[in-house]
Amino acid sequence: MSVGMVPTMGALHRGHMSLVERALAECDRVVVSIFVNPRQFGPQEDYARYPRPVDDDVATLATAGVHAVFCPSVDAMYPAEGATSVHVGGPLGERLEAVSRPGHFDGVALVVTKLLTAARPDRAYFGQKDAQQCAVVQRLARDLDTGVQIIIGPTVRDPDGLALSSRNAYLSPAERRRALAIPRGLSIAAQRFYEGEKRPAALVEAVESELRAVDASVDYVALVDPTTFADALEAGRGCEILVAARIGSTRLIDVLRLGMDEAPCVIGGGAT
Ligand code: AMP
Repeated sequence: MSVGMVPTMGALHRGHMSLVERALAECDRVVVSIFVNPRQFGPQEDYARYPRPVDDDVATLATAGVHAVFCPSVDAMYPAEGATSVHVGGPLGERLEAVSRPGHFDGVALVVTKLLTAARPDRAYFGQKDAQQCAVVQRLARDLDTGVQIIIGPTVRDPDGLALSSRNAYLSPAERRRALAIPRGLSIAAQRFYEGEKRPAALVEAVESELRAVDASVDYVALVDPTTFADALEAGRGCEILVAARIGSTRLIDVLRLGMDEAPCVIGGGAT
């Protein structure tokens, strides 16, 4: 009997549910964890105000046919005597998101290791939107000989292109419109790549100029090799353009895999 696991922090949306549905289709039993993991939030981040509609989430998962929901308390996950850390090294675990959010991936790596150890699934499901997290989890699953197959599901977006995120709930209507610069920038970069542009700096600039136009505060825009997360020397199929930017006080991330993902939104010309 195969077991699938979908780790989440709750406030479930269609992005999470796409992973749950895939797990249900591929595994005999599916467990979803809901745990807002304090270790992956920095001291100035939104841990306290992160949405926690647990009853609604459990009802949604029950309706979907999930077999078990694991909602541990912080004390159960992190007893005071705990002293073990899990760190993924190299550019993968130490660049980009790791620089913007010090300690974030150590928190992710520890909680994922503990969740995989608790549930011992055959497969665990993660979303491509958190691209660097996916790579970190794949690395640790192999390095620690977990035997768990890590499965990555595509990014689910709203019709206007914005990637679904529990943090989108923080955006005012005006901020949400500004946030569309992210999928627009990625779409323009995808189009330039399709037209033959191979220079990383040109593709990065295509995204950054859209972000500048809406006064977003940019943490990074980077074109990376998806396995190592080192900067790509030349854009090629499968290279990932990663974006992290703040719209007002809300930090959003997104990613596009060149030559693989559809452009998140329609750009230029067509609007009436
Ligand atoms: P979170 O609750 O934010 O920790 O997310 C739980 C899982 O859902 C992670 O593997 C995320 O990458 C994934 N996820 C979040 N947003 C999306 C999305 N828009 N599309 C697909 N997967 C997503």
